[in-house]
Amino acid sequence: MGNPKAFLTINRKEAGYRPVWERIEDFGEVEQTLNNEDRILQASRCMDCGIPFCHWSCPVGNRMPEWQDALYKGKWQEAYEMLAATNNFPEFTGRVCPALCEKSCVLNLQGAPVTIRENEVAIAEHAFNEGYVKPNPPKKRTGKKVAVIGSGPAGLAAADMLNRKGHKVTVYEKDEVLGGLLRLGIPDFKLNKKIISRRLALLEAEGITFNVNVEVGKTISTKELLNKYDAVCISIGAGKPRDLVVEGRDLKGVHFALELLQQQNRVVRGLDIPKEERISAEGKHVLVIGGGDTGSDCVGTSARQKAASITQIEILSMPPADFNPDTPWPLWPNILKTSSSHKEGATRRWSLATKRFVGENGILTGVEVADTKTGETEIIQADLVFLSMGFVHPVHEGLLDALAVTYDARGNVAVTAPSKTSVEKVFVAGDAQSGASLVVRAIDSGRKAATAIHKYLS
Ligand SMILES: Cc1cc2nc3c(=O)[nH]c(=O)nc-3n(C[C@H](O)[C@H](O)[C@H](O)COP(=O)(O)OP(=O)(O)OC[C@H]3O[C@@H](n4cnc5c(N)ncnc54)[C@H](O)[C@@H]3O)c2cc1C
Repeated sequence: MGNPKAFLTINRKEAGYRPVWERIEDFGEVEQTLNNEDRILQASRCMDCGIPFCHWSCPVGNRMPEWQDALYKGKWQEAYEMLAATNNFPEFTGRVCPALCEKSCVLNLQGAPVTIRENEVAIAEHAFNEGYVKPNPPKKRTGKKVAVIGSGPAGLAAADMLNRKGHKVTVYEKDEVLGGLLRLGIPDFKLNKKIISRRLALLEAEGITFNVNVEVGKTISTKELLNKYDAVCISIGAGKPRDLVVEGRDLKGVHFALELLQQQNRVVRGLDIPKEERISAEGKHVLVIGGGDTGSDCVGTSARQKAASITQIEILSMPPADFNPDTPWPLWPNILKTSSSHKEGATRRWSLATKRFVGENGILTGVEVADTKTGETEIIQADLVFLSMGFVHPVHEGLLDALAVTYDARGNVAVTAPSKTSVEKVFVAGDAQSGASLVVRAIDSGRKAATAIHKYLS
């Protein structure tokens, strides 16, 4: 620990965001960066606590105190190596992780934790810029073949770890592009897609084979898959969105959140979407149903598409603004979260249940909601609705049903041993196992599945 008293003299300093007026004009990343001197000072604030709660709360077990110290001492490469030892993709999590570590940082007791997430992405970007992140293919091959189904963070982490062990890994992806929700869910303004392509180029150079436009269970049969590979890792995500089956659900203008977000990601990528299929919030009154992160991404996307108004509603009551006695430190606090997208202009309301969609001539004009406390109803004007109420479980039809895996009570793929499904040589990772979660948890799950598969193959 370089400077034991820095936390007393140096304040938390965040890089901050581009100004709203500027950022809503494009889909570029909204977050800014600090210069290296300030970044190093931020790392010096780490107290190297006796019990590093940051490490305890991090799903991949990042060794925060160690790499804060290396960063403080200007040992950027050492810091990157420590980071990369526990996290395959710090350049992703450094951008999009909600940073459970910062919530449990001891300095968060004073409301000013170490800027761990920003420090992480700074170390990762420095590593790429300096050119010391290089392809490092395995020296020996084992002769075993593994198929990874799905190219989200879980599949990519599993593929990376298995390839490092010398197994021949083939990734199958049903979409035309790799990355799962990193690529086609999370908007570009949170994660520039070049960051994903940069990592994929490394993984490919290390010997992983990627196949896009291949839906396993349809394009290739599960029988062919099981014959061809020594082990299979299912990492297909939790793709079934929660629906709202109320009157008017079929009106034109009611969409699942991902219909908007996937399309906008494709548009930013340069794909030409036919006008009749294009979902555009331009000049429309948008209502986002669901108060979580996916809803917030719909808010930010609608703002950039120049919506006339944006309202986000949530069925639960408004959480406390800064302290919730039910979730004290070092737990993840269930408090009001205001994202950069919310600051771009949205009305947020709580305790509202959706009763029905209202329309004229088959086209949405409003949504009737009821206050869950008073029962009073009202109609909110809306031309576009985005259903952002989460995901129920992975898609069963196709691959999973064909493999005949068993499901847990929530409809996720059940495991009989760590990462092992009920089907011989078939393993599972990420949201398909846990239900919809976080990028960092998907990476952790992919790493664990790789460990289980390697053990099985050995
Ligand atoms: C809009 C949105 C925003 C989010 N923002 C954040 C965030 O800011 N921070 C955060 O930590 N988490 C965020 N999340 C959650 C995070 O993205 C997921 O938890 C994570 O991506 C799950 O990873 P995964 O690899 O399990 O699945 P996914 O990322 O869903 O990837 C699964 C892949 O499998 C493919 N697939 C499915 N079936 C088949 C098949 N039969 N054959 C071949 N391929 C198949 C899919 O096309 C997909 O590419 C967000 C989620 C959404 C929806």
